[in-house]
Amino acid sequence: MQSCFILCLSVIIIMGMLYKYFSKITMNEIKNELTFISAGVEQNGKEYLEKLGKVDSRITWIQENGDIIYDSEMNEDEMENHKDRQEVIEALKAGSGESYRFSNTMGKMSYYYATLLEDNSVLRISGTRYTVISLLMGLTTPFLLVLSIAFIISIFVSRKISENITRPINEIDLRNIDKVDTYEELTPFIRKIAHQNKKIQSQVNELRQKQQEFDTITENMSEGLLVFDKNTDVIFYNTSALKLLGADDVLGKQSVYVLNRSEAFVNAVNLALSGEHSECNIKLDERIYQIIANPVYNENHLAGGIIIIVDVTEKEERENLRREFSANVSHELKTPLTSISGFAEIMKSGIVPEEDMKKFAGNIYNEAKRLITLVGDIIKLSKFDENSGNTEFEDIDFTGIVNDNIRRLTQVASEKSVVIESECDDVIMKGIPSVIDEMVYNLIENAIKYNKEDGKVIVILKETDGKIKFSVEDTGIGIPYGEQPRVFERFYRVDKSHSKEIGGTGLGLSIVKHGAATHNGNIELVSEPEKGTKITVVF
Ligand code: ADP
Repeated sequence: MQSCFILCLSVIIIMGMLYKYFSKITMNEIKNELTFISAGVEQNGKEYLEKLGKVDSRITWIQENGDIIYDSEMNEDEMENHKDRQEVIEALKAGSGESYRFSNTMGKMSYYYATLLEDNSVLRISGTRYTVISLLMGLTTPFLLVLSIAFIISIFVSRKISENITRPINEIDLRNIDKVDTYEELTPFIRKIAHQNKKIQSQVNELRQKQQEFDTITENMSEGLLVFDKNTDVIFYNTSALKLLGADDVLGKQSVYVLNRSEAFVNAVNLALSGEHSECNIKLDERIYQIIANPVYNENHLAGGIIIIVDVTEKEERENLRREFSANVSHELKTPLTSISGFAEIMKSGIVPEEDMKKFAGNIYNEAKRLITLVGDIIKLSKFDENSGNTEFEDIDFTGIVNDNIRRLTQVASEKSVVIESECDDVIMKGIPSVIDEMVYNLIENAIKYNKEDGKVIVILKETDGKIKFSVEDTGIGIPYGEQPRVFERFYRVDKSHSKEIGGTGLGLSIVKHGAATHNGNIELVSEPEKGTKITVVF
């Protein structure tokens, strides 16, 4: 296209120059022709002109007064006076004159040249521009030919050149830019691409690594993570979110409401989308999940929301237990304290007869003792709660601990006519001595406490197949079947009044349960009402 334009432009310029050149030549030719004809006219007059006949140029012979003597193209009598013609005026004045104007006679732009003859008449010759144009027209065909050939050649050459330029570019392997071998002019371009390639590659690697890190973190989170846009469509979620909500995989564009339709969840999503933080709990399949929802902003514009789902079942249960425990502790402490304060008040008022003073003091002593035991048990349980998982194990002489406790409790047993029998292997175990001691004491003490007159307690410690089994069996009152799963709960007592009478706090088996858990042990309870109870701890 460009080459075509250049070619046309050069043709126009050349034609212009040729036109100018031919015009000049034509004028000179006309002038020479007139000199030659004027010599003929000077000698032979009109006869010469008539003999000359038709020539390319128009010849006009004009008298001094402007009348036409002869004209090669027109009838002289029909022609007007030519005295006012520019070239005639100049010729009469200076011997020769010329002008360039439109000829009414010829109907074309014409060049006129006039010369003064000896008899003061003027001989004029004129030629049209058509002569020059026709001359140029004759050149048009070869020009067009040259133009077409040049055009075809330029198309062919430019195709070849552009092919030579583009082929190496098309053949560039962007992945192996360092190995590209091409023409010199492309080297800076290749170098720039190679540099950009490296930059892009490192950015891609960085992004990929960040993405992997993000995926690893979110996939290993036990918390569920959900991100949604302002149309509530899910943008991101992790496996935990689906697991916790019990939802199916999110396929394509899906609203976050599909994952959970509970009122609290929908409300949390709506609050996040209205720019507010919110927290709520939802219950699903007996588990409690905390939903923390926050709005997400992108350059100060609300873009969507993010939800974190946390399983708070254990936390909530612990919280409930703690609340229950605090209420129980207050109640358990208040009862003996109320008794103590009641007895003391009566004693203080002086209405207690001297002989009853001992009994009253005894009551206060018993209640205080109960209080001390209770506080002691509460402290032990609190320690379990505080130290869970933090205590260091050491080698302990299990058999020694069992025998010590049997010795300590023999007196109590004999007061109830209960016999303690034991069968113990030599067992050394990794554990916390004070905790094992407490467990052994509580189990044997219960077996005595809840035994019958002339009853029996059988204590067995065995180590088989890497397992340590410690069991305490009694021939006592047993535990009703319905109560058996609950006796390990804090402050739980089967028969409250009886248990209180014999000094129970309802914390003994809780301590055993915690102690077993601390040592990764399991507890088995077998009991038959009125026949007896066997509690085994397997470590
Ligand atoms: P307490 O201090 O009241 O004995 P525990 O936690 O040790 O509290 O026991 C909880 C309850 O389980 C007791 O109140 C009692 O009713 C029952 N219990 C525990 N051990 C025995 C047993 N060996 N025989 C019968 N009942 C028992």
